[in-house]
Amino acid sequence: MIEFNAVSKQYPTGQLALYNVNLKLNQGEMAFLTGHSGAGKSTLLKLIALLDEPSSGEVIVAGQNTKTIKQRKTPAFRRNIGMIFQDHHLLLDRSVFDNIALPLKIEGMRHQDIKRRVRAALDKVNLLSKEDQFPMMLSAGEKQRVGIARAVVNKPAIILADEPTGNLDPDLASDIMHTFKQFNEYGSTVLIASHDHELIKEMKKRIIVLRKVKTTNTKAGLKNGR
Ligand code: ADP
Ligand code: ADP
Repeated sequence: MIEFNAVSKQYPTGQLALYNVNLKLNQGEMAFLTGHSGAGKSTLLKLIALLDEPSSGEVIVAGQNTKTIKQRKTPAFRRNIGMIFQDHHLLLDRSVFDNIALPLKIEGMRHQDIKRRVRAALDKVNLLSKEDQFPMMLSAGEKQRVGIARAVVNKPAIILADEPTGNLDPDLASDIMHTFKQFNEYGSTVLIASHDHELIKEMKKRIIVLRKVKTTNTKAGLKNGR
């Protein structure tokens, strides 16, 4: 489902964020991406979501080499991918319902269908009772669950999360990880960047370690643990 072949990424600043990364994630798999701050985790996720492009090597997502995806096709491609961030990126002036409905409205879905899908997504993250509230009224864990509901509302084949539990206490963090596990069980391929080692171990899924190679540059290499 996701394949990196000899992928390197150097930013225009000259910073080498990824160096010669090889990786394969099968359809239906769930894995954690870990490594020190600055190891390139966010960069790797961005390359999958077409938010940036590799400097060299190939990134293959759902059978397509991302380099060959035309610009006008990228919105459609991105609909296959649900992305979750540490700071949830919710719109504060819209209700929980409207935040989650947004991607479906952009697609032009009918109001009745939107309602059904949003409620189904809210149900899956256990927040059905909060649909009319505004993000400010929610706890940190609830906000993060709204972010997850929004990311999965159009049933993406791939779910990517960048430090989704970074701001949460351990119980809530564990809750969130189990929510991802549930979506993986429904069939989505899931890749989560996290440096919460305790929690990751507890999940008993594949762990991919990104590490900086010790050279004069901060090159990042990949060790593929299991
Ligand atoms: P991680 O998510 O593992 O902390 P990142 O992918 O954010 O790592 O960053 C990898 C390296 O690339 C770091 O050295 C970081 O400073 C650098 N980097 C990240 N984004 C940019 C950018 N837009 N421009 C320049 N350098 C960047
Ligand atoms: P429906 O087909 O009526 O949308 P489902 O029970 O199949 O009902 O899905 C309910 C909701 O679950 C979806 O609308 C979506 O919000 C959420 N969902 C997100 N990702 C997935 C997934 N991989 N598999 C199933 N449901 C998902």
